Amino acid sequence: CGIIGYAGGENSTRAVDVVLESLARLEYRGYDSAGVAVVADGIVQAKKAGKLQGLLDELAAQPLPATTTAIGHTRWATHGSPTDENAHPHLSFDRQVTLVHNGIIENHAELARDLAVRGIDTVSETDTEVVAHRLALALAETGDLTEAMRATVQELEGSFTLVAIAADSPGTVVAARRNSPLVIGLGDGENFVGSDVAAFVSQTQRAIEMGQDEMVTITPDSVAIQTFDGEPVEREEFHIDWNA
Ligand code: GLU
Repeated sequence: CGIIGYAGGENSTRAVDVVLESLARLEYRGYDSAGVAVVADGIVQAKKAGKLQGLLDELAAQPLPATTTAIGHTRWATHGSPTDENAHPHLSFDRQVTLVHNGIIENHAELARDLAVRGIDTVSETDTEVVAHRLALALAETGDLTEAMRATVQELEGSFTLVAIAADSPGTVVAARRNSPLVIGLGDGENFVGSDVAAFVSQTQRAIEMGQDEMVTITPDSVAIQTFDGEPVEREEFHIDWNA
């Protein structure tokens, strides 16, 4: 399965195009569903079981707003059958955040029970959806997407690459990884995150590999990596030696 996140500058309108092109490029990995979300006037998203072409046809008839910020996902189902509902991104109960996930959240049932006590029910069968709700609760508490992600990953067991956007934070994408890959792509006035360099190699050949239990916040002109403990991390960039 594949993941892409894109943060473009204020005048960028190509977030959706970048993400859809990237999903096509990640198609070789095989998957059962695909989806994309943008920050526009609130979060807007489209997701569909089946081949990417199904989603593309739907978007051709009903396009997503052209904005600066987007995430995309191709799913290989582990929890819950391949349905539109189970496809990623997963939107939080309050529609303030949405996220994509590769991997498995081992303690999802426990997290879901705790959410149910607070009156928050899940609508999908995935292990992923609970993370969106936890992130939204943390965001409501901290007011900051990066801080909210750092609080949320502390609660998770299992393997994950997570990439999230928030309705209140156009131009910001936050990503985290444990036992699952995540690479940053460095653009000119725009930045990327992906599950592998194939996600963005047609856009840039400058990349940074993320370490275990690290997270990153990208904006069009900044990349800030930290550990799950909040320690800032400096990492050397490398050049991707193959052409798109
Ligand atoms: N476990 C998640 C699901 O089944 C993510 C699967 C994936 O890595 O694509 O929805």
